[in-house]
Amino acid sequence: MSEIICVANQKGGVGKTTTAVNLAASLAAKNKKVLLIDLDPQSNATTSLGFRRNDYEFNMLHVMNGSKTLAEIILKSSVENLFLAPSNIGLVAIEKEFYITSKQNRELMLRDKIDIINNEFDYIIIDSPPALGPITINALSASDSVLIPIQCEFFALEGLAQLLSTVNLLKKSINPKLKIKGFLPTMYSSQNNLSKQVLDDLSHHFKDKLFHFGSKKECIVIPRNIKIAESPSFGKPIREYDYNCKGNTAYEDLASAIVG
Ligand code: ATP
Ligand code: MG
Repeated sequence: MSEIICVANQKGGVGKTTTAVNLAASLAAKNKKVLLIDLDPQSNATTSLGFRRNDYEFNMLHVMNGSKTLAEIILKSSVENLFLAPSNIGLVAIEKEFYITSKQNRELMLRDKIDIINNEFDYIIIDSPPALGPITINALSASDSVLIPIQCEFFALEGLAQLLSTVNLLKKSINPKLKIKGFLPTMYSSQNNLSKQVLDDLSHHFKDKLFHFGSKKECIVIPRNIKIAESPSFGKPIREYDYNCKGNTAYEDLASAIVG
């Protein structure tokens, strides 16, 4: 069975896609077979792996509405062991579908589809949109755990209570196995006092839910790193764009911590 991790935070621009893509690529480099599901109509994960709209005909909308199977839309990425279920702006139509689907099934539009291919991958990473709407609810309902990137800036923890209560609600109802995989501080800048403050707050409230690599005492933080921001425009994960940069080291550590 694959381990299914949803990367979620309804706050925009906190590093969800960056984390989903680079974690997926780093896991793939550890000889794990990985499927990255782009469940955001913005399609940033799809673009980050170098795919353009004309490169593929079908996307997650077709899977969610049942007209294609996941296996039929999966693309082989240029990274060995890494596969992509692409998105497209048309995926917003899922929101409409959600409201006309019966109450019992509307949170499960994704889970049933993943179940069929669950044995084929070691990890399935889901990138979700910046909202706690139908798409994210479906992503969380299909996942074993949620990884929450927290941008080390002012307002970082705003909205977190709402996300955590949604996770709890889903855990009590349709997805009892759902866990918090961990909080990942992103865009950390050591010169910035605000960054330190956010990290202190996180350590104070969620000490056990930060990621650690090996015996290192400090938790894993993703530094603010220009190379990370540049790599999507080359259609490459950071490990293929600049292996030795600090940003890549942090994502490699995260993958190691997750593989255990
Ligand atoms: P959205 O909510 O719109 O889906 P997101 O949470 O997926 O956004 P990203 O797209 O991953 O966030 O990141 C937002 C922006 O910040 C992007 O331009 C990305 O390249 C940049 N970025 C992400 N992580 C870093 C980092 N560690 N260092 C520098 N820039 C980063
Ligand atoms: Mg995104």
